[in-house]
Amino acid sequence: MSSFDFDLFVIGGGSAGVRAARMAAGTGARVALAEDDRLGGTCVIRGCVPKKLMVFASGFHDLADEARAYGWDFTAGGFSWETFRPLLRLELDRLEGVYSKLLDGSGVSVFKTRATLDDAHTVRLSTGQVATAAHILIATGGRPDRPDLPNAHLGMVSDDIFLMDALPKSILIVGGGFIACEMACILNNMGVKVTQFYRGAQILRGFDDEARGLVAERMHAQGIDLRLGTNIIAMDRANTDIDVPAGDMAQVTSGNGGPVRVKGTSGLEAEFDAVLFATGRSFNTAGLGLEALGVKTGRRGEIVVDAYSQTSVPSIFALGDVTNRVNLTPVAIKDAMAFVDTVFLGKPTPVDHDLIASAVFTQPELGTIGLTEETAREQEPIEVYSTSFRPMRTAFIGKPDRVLMKLIVSKATRRVLGCHIVAPEAGEMIQLAAIAIKMGATKEDFDRTMAVHPTMSEELVTMRTPVRSA
Ligand code: NDP
Repeated sequence: MSSFDFDLFVIGGGSAGVRAARMAAGTGARVALAEDDRLGGTCVIRGCVPKKLMVFASGFHDLADEARAYGWDFTAGGFSWETFRPLLRLELDRLEGVYSKLLDGSGVSVFKTRATLDDAHTVRLSTGQVATAAHILIATGGRPDRPDLPNAHLGMVSDDIFLMDALPKSILIVGGGFIACEMACILNNMGVKVTQFYRGAQILRGFDDEARGLVAERMHAQGIDLRLGTNIIAMDRANTDIDVPAGDMAQVTSGNGGPVRVKGTSGLEAEFDAVLFATGRSFNTAGLGLEALGVKTGRRGEIVVDAYSQTSVPSIFALGDVTNRVNLTPVAIKDAMAFVDTVFLGKPTPVDHDLIASAVFTQPELGTIGLTEETAREQEPIEVYSTSFRPMRTAFIGKPDRVLMKLIVSKATRRVLGCHIVAPEAGEMIQLAAIAIKMGATKEDFDRTMAVHPTMSEELVTMRTPVRSA
């Protein structure tokens, strides 16, 4: 038995920290975990889980119209946030309880307090307690940013969305990434009038151009006022003056404490009840004591780690969003398992970040894995197989909705290098395609797979002719 109080001390009780703590304890290690907020972290408390429940809630938006078009006698009422929100709260409480029980059941000592580092093996709790550990794991995650703009505090960030007492009647969403686009679709479907500013030429930078183009087209078609090449340059309460050129001012009201006026680069004039900044996230490293210990951090404060999640101080490791590698829950969880294999099971296991599937829960969803057409064509000669069509379910009732199925194929190896799906439930579809693609499936493997008919995803195995070669 070592002379330390614990074999592992984890700082942060989110997806990465909880998984690492439980798995390490399962090997017989003596493990402690400190968390000063709710157990479950961003994913469970203020991210993926409440967001997905809001996706489900907002997904009933078209149900009555579609059912009527199919012959049902069906009348829609409005959406009640006041009914939904307490249910959401109860569910998050339940999940937090599950996380707590899992940790207790694994024998992890949980400290509901903030922790900082005294030295390479010593953790100091805000209660004044001090604990030593052979290994320290930092899994403190990140938090939403506001742009550097006077009065930016008048806008909400994603954490605030789940805590709203009432839905605003209108909202301005700033940003074009995952959170901005998902929240735009969710709130629009819940009956909020949504305007979205994105500073670049097309939303969802980094995703396949054809796929993000279709998502943007569908968002426009649903009534989201998506303004590209536009940013916010000034904001204030509606009843005070902002020092901006005359004629360029928008009249905006905020659900977050009263009316707000906003000036946009496009000179937009509009009224909103709230403003949401979805302009990226930064990393919870300030005040941990990393600098004094020589733990190397990057330009934006993220902790620099090697392939084994080890920092520049050998006894200190870091996992999850705080390392700014691939900021997705399943990646944090897998990396936690690799850490436990490496440190507690004597099986050095580097993280594997190759071919990670993900989904953006817009309406329709965007599911993706591997290379975009744009990246692939820079790397090697490729064939592009792509089809965009009106799916049977909604085409039957005259809706213009379109979906996209797209494969990027290496000319040399025939391997499928990328798959991009824009469709209802694309998140579910891409998970299954990801297994084949991770196994190294070729286009011919897809071709010899029998189609499931009639489905949207059968197109993935029936596309015969490339639409482009590059
Ligand atoms: P993203 O990095 O995806 O998007 C940030 C957006 O804000 C970009 O469009 C960026 O523009 C824009 N932006 C940044 N700074 C400014 C500024 N000063 N003014 C105006 N616009 C600005 O971050 P998110 O916050 O949306 O999401 C954070 C991460 O969380 C994601 O990257 C993802 O890893 C994870 N996530 C995953 C989800 C999922 O798996 N479904 C859902 C939600 C989050 P530009 O493109 O020009 O840089």
